[in-house]
Amino acid sequence: MNSSSQFGFSRTGRYARQLDAGFGWLRFQGEMEREYAVQIDTDQRRPAMLSAALSLVFIILFGVSDLVRLPLVERFPDLAADVWGILASRLATIVVLLGCLYICYRQHGASRVAPLSMAAVLTLAVCGAVSVCLYKRNHLGDAEFAQLLFVMGAFSPLGLRFRSSFALAAGVVAVTFALRYSLLPMELQGHQFSAMLVLTLIFSATGGYFRERAHREQFLLRCLLKEQASRDPLTGLANRRGLDERLETIRTQARRENVPIGLLLLDVDFFKRYNDRYGHQAGDLALQRVAACLDAFARGPLDIACRMGGEEFALVLYDCGVASLKDRADQLCADVRGLRIDHATSDICAFVTVSIGGVLLLPQETAWSALDRADQLLYEAKREGRDRTSVERLLPAAAVA
Ligand code: GH3
Ligand code: MG
Ligand code: MG
Repeated sequence: MNSSSQFGFSRTGRYARQLDAGFGWLRFQGEMEREYAVQIDTDQRRPAMLSAALSLVFIILFGVSDLVRLPLVERFPDLAADVWGILASRLATIVVLLGCLYICYRQHGASRVAPLSMAAVLTLAVCGAVSVCLYKRNHLGDAEFAQLLFVMGAFSPLGLRFRSSFALAAGVVAVTFALRYSLLPMELQGHQFSAMLVLTLIFSATGGYFRERAHREQFLLRCLLKEQASRDPLTGLANRRGLDERLETIRTQARRENVPIGLLLLDVDFFKRYNDRYGHQAGDLALQRVAACLDAFARGPLDIACRMGGEEFALVLYDCGVASLKDRADQLCADVRGLRIDHATSDICAFVTVSIGGVLLLPQETAWSALDRADQLLYEAKREGRDRTSVERLLPAAAVA
């Protein structure tokens, strides 16, 4: 099985862990399996609709050939029961396929591609098997090879995962057997065909298994790429791009729930001197420790700890009013100092410290503008002596995001 490092990705994050752990049983851990199902659904909605449309065309063409082969027009409505059976199965297939296509086309929100595909393939298989048996019984020709297509079709891109495809194909085989053995006399049952059907199931399932494995790997690599593009590699925090991506979603939710969002901007004090004194590598380690401390303050699922670049960080706090923002800024400032990272060349303290600017996001304000205001306060904290916070005083009601 492939691993994340083989593709040049870092080994951190849940997608990398899943890639390393493997997925021989074609199942991801926890929530990721649902994400994958949604992805399959999105990717395969159009191919599934195309397959349904093509099947519809073929069924209609078969219907036209029925007109000629069964001389329907001359004898209508005085038709044998079996001929009515063939016509009914054709009509049922057309109605189900049209219904599936319509629902798939109109669908909004939660998708129904997988259950619709299963219903369509099963209807095709049942009605196909009925028609084939009735044709055979009336010596109207031999079209049983078409039933192999239904087994193979269950593994085509129809929005199904391998397990569902396999269950569907096995169901198709079972239904085909049941109908053949109940509708046909012994001499027409054809054991060779039954063996072909089982072999088709085995070959198609093997191909389907390996196709899904490759598809799952691609899914993980795509997610990894997206995740790593929005994450800072040194600290593992979100980077600026990650912050921008998540901030919009958070602000939409905050507007809905009418709650404020707090934003803190941090800058490590005298960090150039730290690098000069202790070296760049030690500087990196210090940044990682400050980042871990910051990350511990992003406790809620909608809070974001971010490395803006260099020795500058940001913390977005969901549902955080002015008083709470000031408290958390002071606590964060004290906690960084409390890490006791030696800084012999700092003018203000024996340890690494940070200065912090804090604002509440205004309702219609852009993220740029809020960051700009936080930046001004940060530099106020720097001017006033560093190792301190400067949080704007605003009426909470005016600052609901
Ligand atoms: P101030 O208190 O005014 O913020 O002073 P400062 O020295 O922290 O600010 P300045 O902007 O002059 O220097 C920032 C330094 O941060 C310069 C650079 O060497 C260091 N730095 C930026 N990114 C990294 C990094 O990824 N690793 C390390 N080790 N140092 C970094
Ligand atoms: Mg700076
Ligand atoms: Mg600095």
